[in-house]
Amino acid sequence: MSNSTGASTSIRHKTVGSRVSLPSDIRKNNRRTVLRALYPDRWLSRADIAKTTGLSKVSTSDVVADLIDDSLLVEGGFKPSSKPGKPALLVGMHTQSMCVMGIDLSEVGTVQGILTDLQGRVIARSSKALAPAQQLPLEPIVDLCNELTSQAPAPILGLGVATPGTVNENGTVLAAPNLGWTDLNLAAELTSRLGVQTYVTNDADSAAFGERCFAQGPANMIVVQIARGVGAGVLIDNHIVRGSHYVAGEIGHVVVDENGIPCACGKRGCLETLTSVPFLESRIVEDPGNREDILAGAGEALGAALSMPVALINITDIVISGPTSIVDTTMLNAVENTINDRVHSRFIRSVHVHPTVLGTDAAALGSVACVLRHQLGVL
Ligand SMILES: [Zn+2]
Repeated sequence: MSNSTGASTSIRHKTVGSRVSLPSDIRKNNRRTVLRALYPDRWLSRADIAKTTGLSKVSTSDVVADLIDDSLLVEGGFKPSSKPGKPALLVGMHTQSMCVMGIDLSEVGTVQGILTDLQGRVIARSSKALAPAQQLPLEPIVDLCNELTSQAPAPILGLGVATPGTVNENGTVLAAPNLGWTDLNLAAELTSRLGVQTYVTNDADSAAFGERCFAQGPANMIVVQIARGVGAGVLIDNHIVRGSHYVAGEIGHVVVDENGIPCACGKRGCLETLTSVPFLESRIVEDPGNREDILAGAGEALGAALSMPVALINITDIVISGPTSIVDTTMLNAVENTINDRVHSRFIRSVHVHPTVLGTDAAALGSVACVLRHQLGVL
């Protein structure tokens, strides 16, 4: 995106607390305010943008001109009017003017990528098998991004990566044992190798944000990912909860059955030993006639574990993502019934448990949403 220096704002300097806002900060904020008013598909006249955003008419005109120069906005059509005179031109987002890439590393042995427009509509997708390695090299990710870029009909706004493990706000993967990564500044590495601004988030957090942004999910929700391990993304008031040490949602190794089977982490009866995909698949293979009971039992264990956070933060929506062979109606009903049996009272309403709307694209689309939030200030 070009960084126009021609635009002027009606306010030159504004003091916020002890910090002075520079004209460039004000211009950036004004751009974000206007984009937010129009995203994803609202068409307004310049006068109505000024009314909606509270910006002055002069500032609005400057910012709109700037954004039209950058191809992020377009003019199209006129506002219907019964008054005499020239009708006002409408302005809206040009959602095909740039593309966003989203990469998902949550599947074992594969890296998946999507290319979308600015509304999160998938234009192209690709995946690569990963050779088993102690430490996942970055080359397959870079190759996949280059492949997606070559199919892009417009410039790339940014890259979002959803990865297992703990990730800080700078996009450093602090620990991802499954990928062999420790303290890897993945965002900086990929930004420098690809020349594209990169943002990295935990995969479960990303799936929660994707459901919120592109599947009309509620602003408060827990998304539980059932995969090789079990983890959760927590969204409160539209913000991902990271926690003090970036490990919010790491519920897989919480003991739920003290007399349970040994877990890889050294404890016994972790939630993961009752509900992860490998554990459930092996039990079903051993005892195929009891498939329903096995999945219902796993749902009960998960529901029991989720009851306390549900009551603690008054969550009423829980999304469960995972393979449909495991996360089926039997399991979803068992989770929902168990939670409601335990927490329902005259204070706490029924909790709704449902599968992910975005399916296997949830994490990748969530990482696309992160790019849109950081780069454009929308979502
Ligand atoms: Zn464990």
